[in-house]
Amino acid sequence: MNKENKHFRLMPFLWSNKLVLFIVTILMILFAAFIAAIPYSMSFIIDNGLKAKNISVLNIIFIIMGIFAIVIAFSQVFRDYLYLDFCSRLLKAIRGKTFSYLQRLSMCFYSKTAPGDVISRFSSDLAVIEQAIVYAPNYLIIPIFNAAITVFLLYNLDITLAWISMLIFPACLIGPIFLTAKASKAGYVRKKSEAITISDVQTNVVSQSVVKALNLQGLSINFFEKNNIRLHKNMLKALFYSSLVERSGIIAAMILQVIVLGIGTYMTFYEYLQVGKLVAFQGLFLGLTYSVITGSSFIPMIVQGKVGFGRVNSLLDELPIVEDIPGAIELAPFEKEIEFKNVTFGYTKTKKNLDELCLTIVKGTSVAFVGPSGCGKSTILNLLMRFYDPDSGSVTIDGCNIKKITQSSLREQLGIVLQDNILFNTTIMDNLLAAKLDATQEEVFEAAKKAEIHDFIMSLPDGYRTLAGERGGQLSGGQRQRIAIARALLHGGNILILDEATSALDPVTQASINKTLAKIAKEGMTTISVTHRLESAADMDKIFVMDSGKVVEQGTHDELLSLNGAYKKLWKTQS
Ligand code: ADP
Repeated sequence: MNKENKHFRLMPFLWSNKLVLFIVTILMILFAAFIAAIPYSMSFIIDNGLKAKNISVLNIIFIIMGIFAIVIAFSQVFRDYLYLDFCSRLLKAIRGKTFSYLQRLSMCFYSKTAPGDVISRFSSDLAVIEQAIVYAPNYLIIPIFNAAITVFLLYNLDITLAWISMLIFPACLIGPIFLTAKASKAGYVRKKSEAITISDVQTNVVSQSVVKALNLQGLSINFFEKNNIRLHKNMLKALFYSSLVERSGIIAAMILQVIVLGIGTYMTFYEYLQVGKLVAFQGLFLGLTYSVITGSSFIPMIVQGKVGFGRVNSLLDELPIVEDIPGAIELAPFEKEIEFKNVTFGYTKTKKNLDELCLTIVKGTSVAFVGPSGCGKSTILNLLMRFYDPDSGSVTIDGCNIKKITQSSLREQLGIVLQDNILFNTTIMDNLLAAKLDATQEEVFEAAKKAEIHDFIMSLPDGYRTLAGERGGQLSGGQRQRIAIARALLHGGNILILDEATSALDPVTQASINKTLAKIAKEGMTTISVTHRLESAADMDKIFVMDSGKVVEQGTHDELLSLNGAYKKLWKTQS
């Protein structure tokens, strides 16, 4: 897929809204024409009405203008609605496409990207796109139409003065032309700084318990202040360039207004120009000046909108490392065994995190991966869940390479419990149903019973309707883990993956949950566990002892102890 295909493309969206945009454009032209018509009418009011003392000319002018004023005023309310509806649909489409694409991106992207960076695309970048498109009619498009109509009317009033007035265009556009590139670059740098600051705040908020416990407030403030100062500098630069663009236009317009008024007055004095035309010309020229300045000073906002749009689109440049191949098949229910065949894998090109790994996990057994921190235990699970693909070798389920299987059908068969399981801030029932939206109440209760949390939930005043709290904060660590186990049981087929599932718990809670897990394993569930606490693995059917990305020993707890090798050493250290 090339980049252009993945990007959000504006033209097809505009084309599919052509009727709306056509009506909006016509209504904008009408409005611009009316604004120009008011000063232009001064020429008739003064020369043909007031000076000629002709009341019927004045009556006709004001009746026509009154009717137009009412019709145009109401038509603009209709235009606002049509256009704002178009804008919000456009933003909805950009948000929708970007969010869906984020769901396709692999874990590799999430492990290297700060959440704040992604969030800023949805907050500040979309905000500048919104500003650019929502204000474009009033600050850019209507001024352009108004300028075009005004120029036509100026030439109609007096050609010499009109030619002099045309200097307004180079005078007001020179600033934007020379400064827009600089303003755009400064805008981009500012956005990057803003994303870093948002990330800082986010990291600080989610890690408040650590910040408080380790008294890191001062350090956090210092760290934040460094980025805050950088943001302040970049922001000042971006804002100053934007205001320079506007200011250069205003200065040029001020000087030119004096020139045009002076020449026009002398022309009238020497009777080259009628008084009404001079007044109309000045009114129109003021309007033209206003339009050109408004339009040119809106250019930086368009530039910022473009930068924001570019940043949102650049998220769509990220390649999903793991993708379903064309014609990927659905995984059949797990029957026999999971096999890692000569699997070599590295998160980076420079290091192998798994090295020619070979192992087999038979259906219905419980296995554990143990070994020193960083030896590659969780990496095995990452490959089994297909968060990453091996660099060489293969992972197969019942002989079928998981690369040939759709990711959704693979993950449907896997239930996973992590060390820190995210519970959503909604009811316990909704948290469980997240794993299987169409589960019946009986299925939910059964999973909760297996996880031995059903009785506890029922003892709560609101039962399954109890709120779990932000990130599950209303529940104890053990209760959260049991709910996560119930959720995994409800979601998965026959494979339960436990990644340090009980490692963060106190020994009593850990032992009690381990007992529950052992019971679940005995009921025919294939349990694959990663743990650094050997006592959690001691009852497993098979233990794989890992070191530096390789399995160095395997067997039951007793077999491994009798080997007098790496496992025995670890066991001794831990006991
Ligand atoms: P553990 O045995 O403690 O579960 P892991 O499988 O998590 O170890 O990690 C194995 C090695 O891979 C470690 O050295 C770790 O630093 C590295 N690693 C883990 N995740 C990533 C990642 N997303 N990017 C780069 N290196 C990683």
